[in-house]
Amino acid sequence: CGIVGYIGQQQTVPILMEGLQKLEYRGYDSAGVAIYSGNDILVKKFKGRLSVLADHLAENPLPGMVGIGHTRWATHGEPNDINAHPHTSHHGKIAVVHNGIVENYLKLKDWLTTKGTVFHTETDTEIIAHLIEYYYEGDLVQAVQKAIHRMEGAYAIGVICKDQPDTLIGYRKDNPLVVGIGQGENFIASDIPALLKYTRDVYFLEDGEMAVLTEGNIQILNELGETMTREPFHVTWDI
Ligand code: GLU
Repeated sequence: CGIVGYIGQQQTVPILMEGLQKLEYRGYDSAGVAIYSGNDILVKKFKGRLSVLADHLAENPLPGMVGIGHTRWATHGEPNDINAHPHTSHHGKIAVVHNGIVENYLKLKDWLTTKGTVFHTETDTEIIAHLIEYYYEGDLVQAVQKAIHRMEGAYAIGVICKDQPDTLIGYRKDNPLVVGIGQGENFIASDIPALLKYTRDVYFLEDGEMAVLTEGNIQILNELGETMTREPFHVTWDI
């Protein structure tokens, strides 16, 4: 279970794949990426080793400069291509990667079903994408804030939105997530090794904090939506 996210001016897929490789030690049964590629968010995800995904992407390149990647350790829904992350809402408007468990996902699934949402996977993760879309009214930060307010459990997530491709959001609650500080590009990852090829300056997020990344800016918000400031941490060690 690993999360990587990128926003900037470089091609995203190689950066995500490099990061996911460095997170392999965490264990996984499937892997995937979601990339905003100009008009749409495109998703590729497969059961099995990262090399399955890498081979597919080598044959079918996915250009784009913002995206999220994931290695999954299944807790809800068997390991297969459909249950692999990223998960998307209708028409691929919202894409989400997730580590951990949304404890009350069945309740939220029932509720969303009454609102007309059709589910395609057995995961607890799919509800996150639909929930964020349900609350999305043009402001991704607000939509994610409303969604996580309803989600019980321990989790870290990465989120992108087709209608707001200049923004990448990370959020953590009792599961790890760090922010990588670049120049004209920024990153999120479950752990520092995923970032070291690109940056040695990171922000650690506290539980309940959200990171809002654009290519030129990083904002950290607490549970009340207040902007938090902190010193970057400089990583001096190597892997
Ligand atoms: N609970 C989610 C799933 O089963 C996330 C698992 C993970 O942390 O990789 O898909």
